[in-house]
Amino acid sequence: MALKDIIGQDRPVSILKGCIAKERIPHALLFTGDEGIGKRLAAVSFAKALNCQRIAGEELQAMGNLLFEVPETEHPDTGLETQSDACDKCPSCKKTDSGNHPDVFIIGPEGDGGQITVQAIRQLEEALSYKPFEGRWKIAIIDDSDRLNQAAANAFLDTLEAPPPQSIIILISSRPDLLLPTIRSRCQRISFSTLPLDTMCRLIKEKSGSMDDGQARLLSVLSGGRLGYALGDNLINQREQCFSIFSQMLESLEEEPWEDKEAMEAWFEWSQLLLRDMAVYSATGQEDLLMNTDRAEYIKDVSRNAGLKDILKLARELYNIKRRLAFNLNKQLTYNFVSLLLRNNLGQSGRG
Ligand SMILES: [Zn+2]
Repeated sequence: MALKDIIGQDRPVSILKGCIAKERIPHALLFTGDEGIGKRLAAVSFAKALNCQRIAGEELQAMGNLLFEVPETEHPDTGLETQSDACDKCPSCKKTDSGNHPDVFIIGPEGDGGQITVQAIRQLEEALSYKPFEGRWKIAIIDDSDRLNQAAANAFLDTLEAPPPQSIIILISSRPDLLLPTIRSRCQRISFSTLPLDTMCRLIKEKSGSMDDGQARLLSVLSGGRLGYALGDNLINQREQCFSIFSQMLESLEEEPWEDKEAMEAWFEWSQLLLRDMAVYSATGQEDLLMNTDRAEYIKDVSRNAGLKDILKLARELYNIKRRLAFNLNKQLTYNFVSLLLRNNLGQSGRG
């Protein structure tokens, strides 16, 4: 995928293409915006565009034409559009796509703690210290960069301040406020935003080919304007899983908690959406205002013993816990505590 294929992020994409066209590439960038919005895709596409051999080829050809005074009409197309995006076809683009480009490095959180360690950063710094093998740039992409642990973040500061020549560092984060201010201030920030409902519906229908208005609207709403999420195949499954754990907690069944940290985070996200609907229904009694329009019965069922005040209080408490998930909360303890909160605030009435 090239930068031009990234849908609905016109502003960040045009900034990135402008950097390439003007040959003014910041040494450190920070891509921010919600999960599932296309930040990582944009980072990889930008890396491809930076090293694309067609761009290099056209520049060389243009230079050659100038040297040998080829007639005007035979000048190749050196327009900004082609010069500032990936061709998607050359060996360099293909290697980046398959994760095999020797000058493109992508790292992210690892292991049980889900952190980016100082060892990973040291390896990356060493890789960046050599000249590019075959591209013009060495590019390091650090996904979920807010998961850099303290030691890793400190180790990385000097490199961010003055990256080795011909290297570009792209940090990706949906929670940039968790990054050290000294890291944030060393990067040029590029913000990605969610898409409006109508645009989402249109794009989902276009991309899926077979979806009706109702389904497209449901996915647009549930994904919160994040196309990557909407088009992933497990959005509805994830929600159903969340609802079922929610019911399980209300019935105080202390079975297996979440599979892993990711599942725990997803549960908190979906719970916020569920509580939002419960609050809206409790305040208005109107089904058509729900986001989970297809699960109105469930929403009525789990909220029937709770008042609006209880629902809002619960939402606030879960939101506060969610903000602390980055600090590796124990799964079982969190599960037990949240179950208690649910039962205290909603009564023991939930059924799946
Ligand atoms: Zn290419």
